[in-house]
Amino acid sequence: MNRVPFLAERLQGFGTTIFAEMSGLALATGAINLGQGFPDTDGPAEVLEAAIAAMRSGANQYPPGTGVPALRRAISDHQQRFYGLSFDPDTEVLVTAGATEAIAASLLSLVDPGDEVIVFEPMYDSYSACISMAGGVRVPVLLNAPDYAVDLTALRHAVTPRTKAILVNSPHNPTGKVFSRLELSAIAELAVKHDLLVISDEVYEHLVFEGEHVPMAALPGMRDRTVTISSGGKSFSFTGWKVGWACASAALVSAIRTAKQFLTYVNGSGFQEGIAVGLGLPDTYFMDFAADMKSKRDRLSSGLAAAGFAVMPTSGTYFVTADITPFGEVDGYEFCRQLPHRCGVVAVPNVVFYDNKTVGQSLVRFAFCKRHAVIDEACDRLATLQGSGL
Ligand code: PMP
Ligand code: GLN
Repeated sequence: MNRVPFLAERLQGFGTTIFAEMSGLALATGAINLGQGFPDTDGPAEVLEAAIAAMRSGANQYPPGTGVPALRRAISDHQQRFYGLSFDPDTEVLVTAGATEAIAASLLSLVDPGDEVIVFEPMYDSYSACISMAGGVRVPVLLNAPDYAVDLTALRHAVTPRTKAILVNSPHNPTGKVFSRLELSAIAELAVKHDLLVISDEVYEHLVFEGEHVPMAALPGMRDRTVTISSGGKSFSFTGWKVGWACASAALVSAIRTAKQFLTYVNGSGFQEGIAVGLGLPDTYFMDFAADMKSKRDRLSSGLAAAGFAVMPTSGTYFVTADITPFGEVDGYEFCRQLPHRCGVVAVPNVVFYDNKTVGQSLVRFAFCKRHAVIDEACDRLATLQGSGL
C-alpha cells in the first residue's frame, strides 16, 4: 500500500473513493457513467418547486440543529405510515447532511477507540473509513455470492466482549440483496442477547423489487438500540441535495447530535423543506418509483447477460453486480479502469467493498438508475466487448 504524505495513520489506505475515481474517468473519457449511483433525471417536480419556493421565501440561513420542523415531522410521519414506528419529531429525529453524515456522526459518537463494529462485506465504502476515524475496529462478516445469505454461525463467532455495534445495510449496496425478515430477526436477537447497538442503513428502503423492506427498528427489542438511517437523495432522486436523517431513541439521537453539530452543524435549509414535501407524497409515487427502477434493473440485467457477463440477481437498490470471468478476465479493478477506453462505459469494481480481496476480485457493479435509452446504449457498447480481450 502506498503511503500518502501528511495523511493521519487512521486514514492511510482510504485514498480517493472509487466513486470519485470512476466518475472522474467518465468525465475525462466521455463514457456512459454506470459507476457512481445517481439518477440521470430529476425527482418529483413538487419536491423541486417546494425547495425553490422555500428559498425564495427566505429559507436561506442556518436551519435548527436537528433539522427544519416540517422535515422532522415528515420523517416521523413517514416512519409511522410505512412501518408503524413512532418517533418523536423533536427528540428522536435528526436531519443530517446526507446519510453519509448520519453514518459518520453515529460511528464517531457511539464508538470508542478499540470498540469492534461488525459489518457485512462487501460493505459501502464510508463504513470502514468512519469506523477507522472513530478509532474502532471493523470486524467483517462475509456475505457469500450468489445469494449473499447471512452466515449466522460466522456472525455469532464475530461477537466478542469488545463488540459495540452491528452495521446493517438493507437493501444492500453493492449487491442489491434485500435481507430477509428471518436474517434480520437473527441479527436482532443477537443484538438483544449481547446488548449491542445496530446502525441500520436503509437508504434504499423504497427500492425493493422482490421481498419486503423490514426496518430493523420494528423487530422485537430493537427500537431503542437501533439507529435507522435514510436519505432524501435516494428516495427522491436528488442526491446532490445531501439531505439525510437518523431516527433513534432520544438518548441515541442526543449522543449522535453531539458529533453531528461539530461536523457540519447543519445543512441545506431550503432542500430540507423540499424533502419534507417528498416524504408526504402519496403511495403511488413510491410504487411508481420502485416499478420504474425495477424495469431499468431488468433492462440492464438482460443487456449485461446478452453482452456475455455472468449477472447476479439483485432485489433492490440501484445496482446490479456482474462477473467478468466469462470474458476470461479476473481483475475487476483493471477491467473498470480499461472499460471506458474499450467501449465507452464506466462501472465500479466490487473489490473495493471487500476486506477479503480474493472474493470480490472478478465482480463489477453497474448502476441502472439511468434513462432507458442510456441503458440501451450502454448495453450496445458492452456487447462489443466479446472477444476484444484486455
Ligand atoms: N449508504 C449507502 C448504502 C449508500 O449507497 C449511500 C450512497 N448514496 C449512502 C449511504 C449515502 O447517502 P447520501 O448520499 O444521502 O449521503
Ligand atoms: N452511494 C453512491 C454509490 O454507491 C455513491 C455516493 C458517493 O459518491 N459517495 O454509487
